[in-house]
Amino acid sequence: MIYADYNATAPLRPEARDAMLAALELGAANPSSVHRAGRAARGVIEKARGQIGAAIGSRAEDIVFTSGGTEALTLAIYGTVAALDGAATLIVSAIEHEAAGKAAAHAGVPVETAYVLPSGQVDLEDLKARLGAWDRAAKGTPVLVLMLANNETGILQPVAEAAALVRAAGGLTICDTVQGLGKTAVNVALLGADYLALSAHKIGGPQGVGALWHRAGAPLKAVQYGGGQERGLRSGTENVAGIAGFGAAAAAAVRDLPKYAKLAGPREAMEARLKAEGGVVVIGEESPRLAGVSNFARPGFRAETQVMALDLAGVCVSAGSACSSGKVKRSLVLLAMGADDALAESAIRASFGWASAPADFGRVAEAWLEAARRTVLKESA
Ligand code: PLP
Repeated sequence: MIYADYNATAPLRPEARDAMLAALELGAANPSSVHRAGRAARGVIEKARGQIGAAIGSRAEDIVFTSGGTEALTLAIYGTVAALDGAATLIVSAIEHEAAGKAAAHAGVPVETAYVLPSGQVDLEDLKARLGAWDRAAKGTPVLVLMLANNETGILQPVAEAAALVRAAGGLTICDTVQGLGKTAVNVALLGADYLALSAHKIGGPQGVGALWHRAGAPLKAVQYGGGQERGLRSGTENVAGIAGFGAAAAAAVRDLPKYAKLAGPREAMEARLKAEGGVVVIGEESPRLAGVSNFARPGFRAETQVMALDLAGVCVSAGSACSSGKVKRSLVLLAMGADDALAESAIRASFGWASAPADFGRVAEAWLEAARRTVLKESA
């Protein structure tokens, strides 16, 4: 089997598995308990917090562990709106993950869209104009929600530039860094955002663990209450083993950044072949994008048909637009970039990572071309 769906979930890294097993072997102890067993569990969490802090260039104490990227975004969006007493307007980029877009829609404050250019990057001129004309009395604090790297296309966003514009307008920036961490350099000072949402399972940690980093002093209120864990910002007994795995995965992913960057070579060779022999359109080819992600479309060859044909050939990829039910819709990300329906319903994503071998890219191309030759290429021959 060739696994090329790292942006959905990356395989567990050995470092993460070892850290999780060691944490599980500590035995049953609540990290809030004051006895030695509890203190040992607490130590596991604090070690991981330090590892995540080192991975993003932040203080450990500004990191709150959550149950994943979705919860981190929910805490950031609802928690900021609550801390601002609802005197806020969210500006959400048109290509955000549903975890951000839907949380924003339910936050109880007005939501505006930050448009993206055909390049797939947010339109900074539009954002600047919008912020320049901001009526603070009517709209409250502008809160931008902008991802660092898009999950479907891998296209990188100019977060530092956007966050600087927002800061100058007295606003706040929430950055969904779920697909960026471990794949491109992430540094809180350089990004300039006020909140960063992170997730373990995209970097070789376990599913169901994530974190929210927040700038010291940034407005943030808890959205769930209870035992007051995580400095009162996220009550609930922590997932000790999961957090241990997240910390170890983050350390390994940042260590392996140069290795990840090298995926661009075989990725480009794969895309060149798919274009030449399969007539595909590579999405975001001219834009800065993650090295291990390839989103390509072949109008007339439906995304779900491609995914199924590749699955039969033992190759795991995604339709960029798949939702949790597994159904494939037209890609809203591609539509937001101005792509037409034919492109948006025929785009698939192959994503690679820490355990991918250069040969995997060739195998994906081979399997895709074979499937295309039986169907769409035959028809057009
Ligand atoms: N944000 C992005 C960009 C993602 O790709 C995902 C996962 O698909 C999420 C947020 C949600 O993260 P999690 O699955 O940890 O809740």
